[in-house]
Amino acid sequence: MKLANLKDATDNVTFAQAVKRGLGKNQGLYFPTEIPALQNIENVLAMPFVERSTFILSTLLGDEMADEVRNIVQQAFTFDAPVVQISDKISVLELFHGPTLAFKDFGGRFMAQCLARLTNHEPVTILTATSGDTGAAVAHAFHGLDNINVVILFPKGKISPLQEKLFTTLGDNIHTIAIEGDFDACQTLVKQAFDDPDIREGLHLNSANSINISRLLAQVCYYFEALSQIPVQQREELVVAVPSGNFGNLTAGMIAKAMGLPVKRFIAATNSNDTVPRYLKEGKWDPKPTVATMSNAMDVSQPNNWPRIEALIEQGYLDKSVLRGESVDEDYTQIAIRQLAQQGYTSEPHAAVAYRALSHDLDENETGLFLATAHPAKFRETVENVLGQPISLPQALSEVASKDSLAETLPNEYQILKQHMIALLKPS
Ligand SMILES: *Cc1c(COP(=O)(O)O)cnc(C)c1O
Repeated sequence: MKLANLKDATDNVTFAQAVKRGLGKNQGLYFPTEIPALQNIENVLAMPFVERSTFILSTLLGDEMADEVRNIVQQAFTFDAPVVQISDKISVLELFHGPTLAFKDFGGRFMAQCLARLTNHEPVTILTATSGDTGAAVAHAFHGLDNINVVILFPKGKISPLQEKLFTTLGDNIHTIAIEGDFDACQTLVKQAFDDPDIREGLHLNSANSINISRLLAQVCYYFEALSQIPVQQREELVVAVPSGNFGNLTAGMIAKAMGLPVKRFIAATNSNDTVPRYLKEGKWDPKPTVATMSNAMDVSQPNNWPRIEALIEQGYLDKSVLRGESVDEDYTQIAIRQLAQQGYTSEPHAAVAYRALSHDLDENETGLFLATAHPAKFRETVENVLGQPISLPQALSEVASKDSLAETLPNEYQILKQHMIALLKPS
């Protein structure tokens, strides 16, 4: 597979290099120089999930990791992505059946399995800051992998206790540190570590962050899995609504369409952080300060995957008309959670944003699919407040709730973090 840096076309890399580097020169994103079109889509859709995903990823990767793709997929995709019917015209793709109950498990687990093989058994340290979801997905994805240590920084007391337990109770190669500061302070510490050769080279740092191309390729697979569950006569008029923050999920869907996914169009569904919907309607890129919402994983006003979506359109893979934007405010998010509950479906704010955007935008002859990116229990307090009734915890959450957090607390001071990491990880 060949990829090019969207900010510098001379920066060409293989998949292996792109996965290890994350970002390219000048902070540019890597993007495939060619997106292959799949033939005989009906046959592809008829395959079982693991086999189909192996086929799709092998097609994308070309001759790279050819012997290993099946194994990687088998170890990464160990849970289902079921489509559930909500009404005559609308169904939902549930992406929250993985170990951390969010769709980030797909990309995180695939990336971890790739990285474990691409580092040739040399020790690597993954360092990341989290305000919730990403940390849990990364921690579970790398837990127990040889020669990979993970250090996760999070703002002490600023994550819901249940969210925190999801990644601080694992132990082994997963080291969690509560920083006495906010999320920005954690991100600053991570940047300082990457700028410090003692740590960057001494501990072989890697960021494994959300712009890593491996995540997007993994996510392409569940769009095909969704379509395999949609009745044939509905496919060509199908509209897919994607709850979006950094727009990785939507980018993956649009790559799937460029490869031949038989859907009509997409809706970029955002909360009040509506840079993209405004851009699609008015043609002006004009980010406003980020505002806090119920669907907090989408509180992003400068989505970092957007250049990849522009590339898909500019390079002629897709027409502009396949994408519309809708922003959904807090009131309508609550209304949508209640409307879904009336139809017997318990949902959470991110999926509700997509449901509202979809039901608002769907034309007469179209059918709709929205993506549910997290289990409602991950946003238990909000959902219980909106619905006025308790919701039950799935096993994964009730199990960790009773375990002790293994996180250490450190002050917001780089030198102390550095000494701590060296003592913890430096090979003697
Ligand atoms: C990360 C996240 C999103 C946003 O996904 P992007 O790929 O960044 O657009 C939506 N919902 C949930 C629950 C998330 O964790």
